[in-house]
Amino acid sequence: MEKENSKIFDVAVIGGGPAGMMAAGRAGELGAKVLLLEKNKFLGRKLLITGKGRGNITRAEFDYRELLKKYGREGDFLLHALSIFGPKEIVDFFEKRGLRMKVERGKRIFPETDSAKDVLDILTGYLAENKVEIMTNSEVKEIIANQNRISKIVLKNAMPAGRQGKDISAKNYIIATGGKAFPGTGSTGSGYLWAEKLGHTVAKLRPALVPIKIKEDWPKKLQGLSLKNVELTVLQNGKKRDSRFGELLFTHFGLSGPIVLDLSGHIGELQEKEEVKLILDLKPALSEQDLDKRIQSDFIKYNNKFFKNSLNDLLPQKLIPVIMELSGIDPLKKVNVITKEERRGLAKIFKNLEMTVSSLLGFESAIVTSGGVLLREIDSKTMQSKLIENLFFAGEIINLHGPTGGYNLQVCWSSGYLAGQNAV
Ligand SMILES: Cc1cc2nc3c(=O)[nH]c(=O)nc-3n(C[C@H](O)[C@H](O)[C@H](O)COP(=O)(O)OP(=O)(O)OC[C@H]3O[C@@H](n4cnc5c(N)ncnc54)[C@H](O)[C@@H]3O)c2cc1C
Repeated sequence: MEKENSKIFDVAVIGGGPAGMMAAGRAGELGAKVLLLEKNKFLGRKLLITGKGRGNITRAEFDYRELLKKYGREGDFLLHALSIFGPKEIVDFFEKRGLRMKVERGKRIFPETDSAKDVLDILTGYLAENKVEIMTNSEVKEIIANQNRISKIVLKNAMPAGRQGKDISAKNYIIATGGKAFPGTGSTGSGYLWAEKLGHTVAKLRPALVPIKIKEDWPKKLQGLSLKNVELTVLQNGKKRDSRFGELLFTHFGLSGPIVLDLSGHIGELQEKEEVKLILDLKPALSEQDLDKRIQSDFIKYNNKFFKNSLNDLLPQKLIPVIMELSGIDPLKKVNVITKEERRGLAKIFKNLEMTVSSLLGFESAIVTSGGVLLREIDSKTMQSKLIENLFFAGEIINLHGPTGGYNLQVCWSSGYLAGQNAV
């Protein structure tokens, strides 16, 4: 039999991502003896790649009721957590510790240094400041419970020198193992399995905020092209199901970029039933008639040019051959002989580029996981499990996620802070 580790902790936190670090630091700040367990060699591996390495930590939306709306039907669950530790508090948290924040386009908040590493450094400093014991290279294999209480957790491998056995006991436990997205960072979904074993229900897990594969070939020719201020509409059976305005990126398999990622969860759900079409409007600010007038004035300007040389004012260079091909107009036709029908057809194409969804990319490419431990089984005031007395949840493992733009790290800060505070 394995010998039990002699030291009993007040709080054991499993998972050293943003939620687990915040939870452990807060519990330590309140005087608890805290252990933070992380299976990777170092903490915050996923945090380091957030916001393309710049760490979009939250949003400049300081009315938390407004912020809540972006988390969909489940948003209300966060009301208390955001009121205790919302965007203002997390900005203050970092600035008080010397990392100034800045607001960028779309209310996204980043560190002024543009470095997620600096965010991680502040968090590890917070852990040290509050004497949290950290064990990296320590994968938790199992959680053992008797009736409604966890009695111990079991590590996969023996503990490092100076400790004995594989078992760890604490008065309270916080599961902050993240979701299944980007598993290479350590988030492989083990927390969901433990939660189910402990009696919790886990809502269906799907990759979310994930790029989309497209059946047609033409979008692939545009690989690398990023378009701002476009509108993407989701159709099923000819009916509009959703839409987003903003930035889109063409890739070698189809589409990515903020508006595509934000629509992907909904598209995934719809696709489980029937085929989904996407309509891209390149000029959402103009009606078809206004756009036709605009093309007409460009055609007057380039009256004597070939069609292929007449669209430079309206479209990025890379898009021109694709649009020309879709229009069916000969690129070597002189602009002054293009018919009214051909010109109107062109305006229609600008506003109705149709694509067919093939599939979503998988968890390997997803930013977050949709699904997770059901909210009705967690006390939103404390993050405590309603089924297991000495268990708390924090971060992506709970059945809640928001769009891109800082919403998901905010869930980690708010739920982690609350879990740490209440586990003491
Ligand atoms: C590429 C990318 C960019 C992103 N950019 C942003 C952004 O700019 N802004 C934003 O708001 N959100 C962003 N996100 C989402 C955000 O990173 C996640 O929502 C967040 O990291 C979730 O935090 P967490 O602490 O719940 O889980 P994680 O960050 O996944 O951390 C969980 C930790 O638990 C550890 N662990 C798992 N199982 C075990 C085990 N059995 N034993 C011990 N340890 C274990 C893992 O190794 C991991 O370190 C991004 C995500 C990705 C993939």
